[in-house]
Amino acid sequence: MLTKKVEETMNEQLAIELQSAYVYLGMSSYCESISLPGSAQWLRAQAEEEYGHAMRFYNFITDRGARVRLRQLNAPPTDYSSVLAVFEKALDHERSVTGSINKLYDLVAKEKDFASQAWLDWFATEQVEEEKTVGHIVEQLKMVGGKGDALFLIDRELGGRAGA
Ligand code: MG
Repeated sequence: MLTKKVEETMNEQLAIELQSAYVYLGMSSYCESISLPGSAQWLRAQAEEEYGHAMRFYNFITDRGARVRLRQLNAPPTDYSSVLAVFEKALDHERSVTGSINKLYDLVAKEKDFASQAWLDWFATEQVEEEKTVGHIVEQLKMVGGKGDALFLIDRELGGRAGA
């Protein structure tokens, strides 16, 4: 069983992960529109990864005998000023997700829900990786400053990320 407060907050995090998938899909569609198919592919793979995170919460809530309560998602932006702006926004987004994972971690520790705490370790580690990866992309995009040939190479490299 989960306490009511943990159940509520786990459901909130499930919605945040689904919203993340939706945000990345919006970013991907923008990159398609400006002919950066590699960046679009990377962001689409990221959207799928976020959906996977959401399903981890879905399964965990169910496994613990609690109820999944789905929420309304918000329409994400599909317009940005540049690919750099996209990845800067992605970095902000990941930092805010890290904040919500940390809050959840703090809650389960206070409630002495040790099973949830151990399970959340994976997410705490995953957020370090997410921020690092997106942070590197932001730095590389800043280095090339929108220059066509270098941007083309970065886009090709981003397109190498596996995904459906
Ligand atoms: Mg996530």
